Amino acid sequence: MKMATRLFGTNGIRGVVNDELTPEFVIKIAEAIGTYFKQGRILLGYDGRISNIMMANAVTSGLVSTGCDVFNAGLGPTPCIQYTVKNHKMDGGVMITASHNPPEYNGIKVLSSDGVEISRRQEIRIENIFFKDAAKRVDWQGVGNSTVLPNALDEYKEAIKKHVDVTAIEKNHYHAVVDAVNGVGGLVAPYLLRELGCQVTSINANIDGTFPNRPPEPRPENLQDLITTVIAVGADFGVAFDGDADRTIFVDDKGEVQWGDRTFALIEKAFLQNNPGETIVTPISSSQVVKEVAEEYGGQLVWTRVGSTIVSHTMKKLKAKLGGEENGGVFYGPHQPVRDGAMTIALMLEILARTGRSLSQLLLELPRYHLEKDKIECPNRKKAQVLKMLILSVKRLQPDTIDGVKLWFSDKSSILIRPSGTEPIYRFYAEAAEKERASMLVKEYKRKLQKMISENA
Ligand code: MG
Repeated sequence: MKMATRLFGTNGIRGVVNDELTPEFVIKIAEAIGTYFKQGRILLGYDGRISNIMMANAVTSGLVSTGCDVFNAGLGPTPCIQYTVKNHKMDGGVMITASHNPPEYNGIKVLSSDGVEISRRQEIRIENIFFKDAAKRVDWQGVGNSTVLPNALDEYKEAIKKHVDVTAIEKNHYHAVVDAVNGVGGLVAPYLLRELGCQVTSINANIDGTFPNRPPEPRPENLQDLITTVIAVGADFGVAFDGDADRTIFVDDKGEVQWGDRTFALIEKAFLQNNPGETIVTPISSSQVVKEVAEEYGGQLVWTRVGSTIVSHTMKKLKAKLGGEENGGVFYGPHQPVRDGAMTIALMLEILARTGRSLSQLLLELPRYHLEKDKIECPNRKKAQVLKMLILSVKRLQPDTIDGVKLWFSDKSSILIRPSGTEPIYRFYAEAAEKERASMLVKEYKRKLQKMISENA
């Protein structure tokens, strides 16, 4: 067993199927989860991976053995399962997904009664039950039941429509291209778009857990088919999901892929124009654009550490209604404070309809920054010491150390240097009005960090 003292990573439990995630291991995890939820009602859902039924059956066995009742919603996007937990007043939920990981992976996300992923403190309680073999199986009369919960996809779709101006959107008959990466996003978005009066062209729409057409991570280099299709059919926009459809990357009407924080800034701007003074939550890895939009339209911006669960929990704590990430996660609190791909599309359609402008025009109105991303290898054992040295060396620049080191310069350029939570690397995100300045920042700090890593033998 490779996982020693921790089960949960930054996004739930992840591993390679039948290597790390064997049926017996998954049953044991589910028994710990079931013990934690004390014979409650648990919603179960899964994405389109090959191993979904193996995982779902193992999770079900573990949960019912501890006296929980399982309500199986079947295939669905993670945000749909999250919404359904809340909508059906479940005590908790389990979503089986490895999100954007390669096809050999699967994973488990544990959800609270409001559909939000559980906090680190709750994870520790489940880990304690697991590692101390403290799961409580009930005797035979108490074993739980498993029943199908139908209609989750439709209820989720209807809930999203309640948050936008459907009449205004319908009038425009937008043409959208959806790339669901052969995942569960194809079960909701194309139907939602049609019900909003759009013409829809779908690519990679059938569910296929081998991800035959592109990797499940919606990075610009993976979206060539979407770009080509948007241009070929003259669509108003294209939209690409990750494997479980909580993240959304847009391609504009000119066929240009947009980073998530730029499209988020459009949603942020529209939201603040209608709700001045509201709090906006975003990780420290987001673009300056998010900050400038908040300043211009009277929002209170709160930076957080990187991680979607952190954004969700910060929103809950501050009662914030909007959050967003650079990877395409948009959190719309009035619907649910979790990232939600279908909700994001509906919000974007409403902006297009209300402004009467194209996506590329709207994006041109935002401040333009060049972004440079890079990484450098650093053994996990050196990460903490290197971070200490780095902070010390840039002290006079008043670094923001919420997550790694972020430096803001007077010419509005910035750089974030941050150890990865999952890989033996440090990541760099530099941003500046001029491309050369952004590249220079990365080069300069890469050199400094390389020196610290080699000195720190
Ligand atoms: Mg995801």
